[in-house]
Amino acid sequence: MTQGSKAAEKVNADRLLDLFLELAKINGPSTKEQLVADYLKKALPELGFTLEFDEAHKNFDGEVGNLIAWREGTDSSIPPLFFSTHMDTVLPTEGLKPVIKDGVIQSDGTTILGADDRAALAAYLEAVRAVIESGVPHGPIEFILTVNEQPGLVGARYMDYSKAKSKRGYIFDSSGDVGQIILKGPYSSRIWMEVEGNAAHIALNAEEGNSAFLIAAAGLSNMKLGAIDEETLANIGIIKGGELTSIIPGSVTVAGEVRSFSKEKLDKQLKHMEEVMQEAAEKSGGSVKVKIEKKYSGFDIAQDDILTQTAEAAARNIKVNPYLTETLGGADTNVLNENGLTCLTLGLGFQNIHSFRECISVENLTNTGRLSAALIEQWYVHHKK
Ligand SMILES: [Zn+2]
Repeated sequence: MTQGSKAAEKVNADRLLDLFLELAKINGPSTKEQLVADYLKKALPELGFTLEFDEAHKNFDGEVGNLIAWREGTDSSIPPLFFSTHMDTVLPTEGLKPVIKDGVIQSDGTTILGADDRAALAAYLEAVRAVIESGVPHGPIEFILTVNEQPGLVGARYMDYSKAKSKRGYIFDSSGDVGQIILKGPYSSRIWMEVEGNAAHIALNAEEGNSAFLIAAAGLSNMKLGAIDEETLANIGIIKGGELTSIIPGSVTVAGEVRSFSKEKLDKQLKHMEEVMQEAAEKSGGSVKVKIEKKYSGFDIAQDDILTQTAEAAARNIKVNPYLTETLGGADTNVLNENGLTCLTLGLGFQNIHSFRECISVENLTNTGRLSAALIEQWYVHHKK
C-alpha cells in the first residue's frame, strides 16, 4: 500500500523540461559558475528562499562560491532537509542545441548536454514549486549548491559548513534510473612515488647511470593493481620522466590511486604499493620518496537510516521501484558526509556524461522532479508519525 504524493502530482513535466533546457544552456564550466549563480539569485527568492554564498572560490580562483539557500517550512518543528548538487558542468554548454528524439534529450553532438547535473537543479526547483502549489505541509528546505565539483569535489572541500543548517539530505547525481539509492561510497587516496636513480649520458659516463625507469618498471611488475578484492581498486595512471633519448633517466614520477569501501584495505594497498617500489629501489641502489594524498573519505548509510527509509517510501509513493546500490565512484556525497552533512546519492538516469553523447530521458527527468517533491512530502510525514 502506498499513499501517493500530492506534491509529486503537481510536478509539471513540460514546465520542468523547459526549465531544464533553460538551465542547461547557461554556460558554467568548473570555476566559471557566475551565470548560474546569477540565475539562481533571481529564481530562488521567487520560490521563497533566502540565499548566501561562501568564499570557497578564493581558494582556487573561481568566479563565485558555493550557494546555500534556505526556505522556511509550513512546520518549523520538522528538521530541515537539504538537496545538493553542483552548479558547474564538466565542459562548456555554450551554444547548446538540445534535440529531443524518442523521449530522450541530447545535444546536437557539438557540446555536452549538461544533464550532469543541471537536470537535478531543474528538478529541485520544479519540486519546490510543486510542493508550494500542492499546499502539503512540509519542513524547512535547504539547497547546498557547490561549485568546481567536476575536477575533484573542490568546491565542497572548501565549503564553509557553518552556513548549512541541515543535518541530512540528498544528492541526485548518478546514472542509475530514478529509484537508485546509493548507500555506500569509497575512501580514496592518491599515491605519488618519486623514483630516484642516477642520471648519466650513455656515451660519456654510462657507468655512473642508474635508470630510474628500470627501477620503476621492476617495482610496477611486482605491484598488485586493478581489482584487489571485491571492495578495493588500485591503479597507476601517471608516469612522468625523461629528458633526452641519450640520457639514462635519473628520476621518474609514478602516480596512482586506490579506492576502497574499507579504510583499512585502502591503507593496506597503499602500503603495498609503497613497499614494492621501495624494494625495487633498494635492490638497484636507488631511492623512492612517497607522498600519499587523501582524495575523500567513504560513507556508509544504514538501510534503516531515516534517509534510506524516506527515499524508499517516497519512490513507492510515485510508483517508482526503489533499489539499493553502492558505488566506487566519488561524489560531493563523500565530502559532505565527512563534514557532518549526512546524505546519500540518488540516481537520475543521465547517460554518457562528460561526452557529447550525454543524454537523459524525459521520463527520468520528470521522475527526478516527482521524487524530489515526494521526498519533501514524505520527510514531513515520517516526522509526524
Ligand atoms: Zn555530477
